[in-house]
Amino acid sequence: MPGRVSRRGFMTIAGAAMTAISQSARGNSAPEELPLEEASASPANGRIVDIHVHFDEKNPNFIRDLAKVAERINLVACLLTPYPYRAQVADAAKQYPKHIVPFGFVDLDAPDVLAQVKDFHALGYRGLGELEFVKKPYTDDSYVPVYELANQYGWVVMFHTGIVLRRSVDEPENVASYRMRAFHLEEIARRFPKLTVIGAHCGNPEYEWAAEVARWNPNVFFDLSGSTLTKMSGRLEEFKKIFWWSGQGEWKTATPANDPSAFIKLVFGSDNGLDGIERVVSQYRAFFNACDVPASTQQMIMGGTLAQILRI
Ligand SMILES: [Zn+2]
Repeated sequence: MPGRVSRRGFMTIAGAAMTAISQSARGNSAPEELPLEEASASPANGRIVDIHVHFDEKNPNFIRDLAKVAERINLVACLLTPYPYRAQVADAAKQYPKHIVPFGFVDLDAPDVLAQVKDFHALGYRGLGELEFVKKPYTDDSYVPVYELANQYGWVVMFHTGIVLRRSVDEPENVASYRMRAFHLEEIARRFPKLTVIGAHCGNPEYEWAAEVARWNPNVFFDLSGSTLTKMSGRLEEFKKIFWWSGQGEWKTATPANDPSAFIKLVFGSDNGLDGIERVVSQYRAFFNACDVPASTQQMIMGGTLAQILRI
């Protein structure tokens, strides 16, 4: 779910990042004019793949607005689409193949969830997400048929992990963050090896569990969307202790591009509305700088890994 955060304090750095992005997107970047860390943080091919863009039902011009932003900053959006909008987004993905990859949002507890998944597949969808607000833990047997189908399709499935917003304080709601803890993804990834499992929000606040599950499971990745990069903005280097195994290859788990950096288990996700994507890009860049993430790994995180998995 979009976790809207105040833009205060980010405008300056976001502005600098936007300039850098739009320059490189136009192919006329002038690195000597950019601060060094901005230049080195730019993905080599300039393209960003965002695993976490929610379709905005409230904006009738959403597709047009998304296409505009995506063109400007050289972005591919994995567009998380509610079932009623499935045909509209399937068409949009055909119209904007460089900018939209369609993902189906389903409620795992819906009685017709399997039929919905099949419909999404028939329309050319590439995965599911964001799965969230589940009534039982993700590993509950009743959800297995969905995972089996997604595994058969070789899909990417994105799960919300960790703390979740409260939609109402007046009405009772059957929602609990523990059902969406990052460690549940371990069992799903192991039982369904053709799936690519993405955990949104890196298990916030259980980053250690998220990282360790990702370390052992080549088909597990996490995004850092949500409040984490804001909460941790003054202590981002702590992630070096959590993603600790860079260059220590004794586990021999496969990584994209055989990258030995532990941070290769992260992918870019914004989860922030169209006007918030660039702010999250600059937050990822601050994170890269604080954790000394190699330039080649940055490029994979910002788009290379998802481009490989989705073959785009
Ligand atoms: Zn979420």
